[in-house]
Amino acid sequence: MNLVSALEKVKGIGAKTGEQFALAGLRTVGDLINFLPRTHDDFSKVTAISNIEPGKATIKARCEKIVTRPVRRGLRITTATLADESGKLQAVWFNQPYRETQLKSGEEFFFSGEFEFNYNRYQLTNPSAEQVSDMPIQTDRVLPVYRSIKGLKTTLVRKILAELRPLIMMLPETLPADIIKDEKLLSRSDALLAMHFPKTLDDIEKGRERLAFEELFELLLASQLNRQENAKLEGWHILFNQSVVKQFVKQLPFKLTGAQRLAAWEILQDFEKKTPMNRLLQGDVGSGKTVVAGLTARQAAHEGFQTALMAPTEILASQHAETLQKLLSPFGVRVGLLTGSVKGAARKTLYTAIAEGEVEVVVGTHALIQETVQFHKLGFVVIDEQHRFGVKQRQELLKKSQHMPHLLAMTATPIPRSLALTVYGELDISILNELPKGRKPIITKTWSPNSRAQLYAMVDEEVASGRQAYVICSLIDDNPDNEIKSVQAEYKKLQNSIFKHRRIGLLHGKLKSDEKERVMQQFSAGQLDILVSTTVVEVGVDVPNATVMLIEDADRFGLSQLHQLRGRVGRSIHQSYCYLITSTSAKPTQRLREVEKSNDGFYLAEVDLKLRGPGEIYGHAQHGALNLQIASLADTKLIARAQKSARLFVESGQNLLQYKQLAEHVHQYQRLTTLN
Ligand code: ADP
Ligand code: MG
Repeated sequence: MNLVSALEKVKGIGAKTGEQFALAGLRTVGDLINFLPRTHDDFSKVTAISNIEPGKATIKARCEKIVTRPVRRGLRITTATLADESGKLQAVWFNQPYRETQLKSGEEFFFSGEFEFNYNRYQLTNPSAEQVSDMPIQTDRVLPVYRSIKGLKTTLVRKILAELRPLIMMLPETLPADIIKDEKLLSRSDALLAMHFPKTLDDIEKGRERLAFEELFELLLASQLNRQENAKLEGWHILFNQSVVKQFVKQLPFKLTGAQRLAAWEILQDFEKKTPMNRLLQGDVGSGKTVVAGLTARQAAHEGFQTALMAPTEILASQHAETLQKLLSPFGVRVGLLTGSVKGAARKTLYTAIAEGEVEVVVGTHALIQETVQFHKLGFVVIDEQHRFGVKQRQELLKKSQHMPHLLAMTATPIPRSLALTVYGELDISILNELPKGRKPIITKTWSPNSRAQLYAMVDEEVASGRQAYVICSLIDDNPDNEIKSVQAEYKKLQNSIFKHRRIGLLHGKLKSDEKERVMQQFSAGQLDILVSTTVVEVGVDVPNATVMLIEDADRFGLSQLHQLRGRVGRSIHQSYCYLITSTSAKPTQRLREVEKSNDGFYLAEVDLKLRGPGEIYGHAQHGALNLQIASLADTKLIARAQKSARLFVESGQNLLQYKQLAEHVHQYQRLTTLN
């Protein structure tokens, strides 16, 4: 028997049980051994019955009397009187008539369960019971509790793992010995024993630390190695021409922030290096990332290189094309827009222009990565809202050049440092931590649906003074099964009554793209006062005159999403407002409170990371495959330790291949994030 043996080979697993395990995704012995408990219940202390208190308890007792009676169809209750030297208590089981046969022997048993008030008396509810002479598996210890997937019982998992215990004791080490020693970690075998068969709660902590360390080490080692490999790639040389950059900056309608200057400078430095840039530009919503992309694209164009800018939605792509057009046309740089709605002859002409280098900056959606799109000399790739894209799409775009182009990934979701280190470990990072001058903090307030009338009056006042407003709802179609307002119904309601005298637009993902475009244009040009929309406006949309963001059913949105939506306002010198309407008049959730309290995207990202985990925040496109079983990306201390070890490992020039499992895992992570 070894780790790859089928579970059916284990004693106690027949075909039927094996199927149950397989349904839960557990096929081999190794799968089960690495199936870690979700939590543990401490049943390790045996209590005398006279001392028992409500809560989890283990007693050592004999069964004096036991009866089962049918209560109604489908429910049979077994009650027993259990006794030790100190006293007696009652235990109760639901639909477990076999307890009668099990307990009638008069032997001594361990009982572990919840001692609670039920049916007018205190009793031990559904306790596990094991004869004292046995080595206890389900009682009298710190009990691991496993996720019950597809009805897989935790008691069964415990039983089978007990069978596998000798094998776990012999498991080979997977981490380099010096790391185990320096970091004072448990061996792999001890760590797994500690998780599945802990003696004390402290054991679990040590086991968890070791296994979490290993996961983080693999992840961080992967990014170190990727970084090393990227350094071997040859990129394009794009020389920095100071007068070109100065000219560009001079014709801007505003002064760049210090953070924008620094980021641009870092990018221009990277352009001059032999190796391709691999940089993440993170800046909170409204911090002005687009102009940084524009400036650097200008430099690239001047040196004869094309830039491709990929955005996740058509709305955003066309908005960027327009912005860049304004910024770049004074210098004779030509900007093209390629989206799904550019069709027929226009599309063909654009393809030719791109292939011949007549268009120097190509802005587009996923349409950019199609095979038919060929560049003349692609030197610079910008990916906006990069968490919306998968690794594959990024790679497709990078492939469109003879040399690896310089890559700038932009994101408005501030990434907590711990996450940046792990998930984006191989990227260099520039941060726009400064908003343009004169911006006032957005005033955010949560409202109960009962106060809607008052709220609408405030919105109307803003509109009357020349500003514009967004109203966000979360679903398109009327679905009587839930209370979420459909955006269409909301639109009609507002148009026909409350805001009859205002110009209202409707925007949602199911509209035809030219229709979307038209609505967005109108709103942007100030021809609409209020835009009723789904979250399609969430990313990137920039209409500085809009100062009100009203979000219906706000409690149904994630924290980062709310922050993103709020970022659509507060983009000018005017005071802006964000109103969060809850779906019920119940108290606002913690999430809403946090958004109310803080305008700081970094802070909110940290909170979101703690509340919901990385996958939820940073999009499944990229991190769906990043399934950390046990490590927490919020555990900065452990991350720092693993980071140090990974660096030392790479620097010492050790060969990864001598650690088979480690190498396998690391290569998996490497493929997830690599450039090539
Ligand atoms: P984001 O970082 O969210 O993508 P944008 O690039 O859309 O932000 O910029 C937000 C708005 O701020 C735009 O209207 C842009 O013209 C403006 N802006 C950018 N930089 C500055 C600056 N330094 N001073 C004033 N306004 C700026
Ligand atoms: Mg943007």
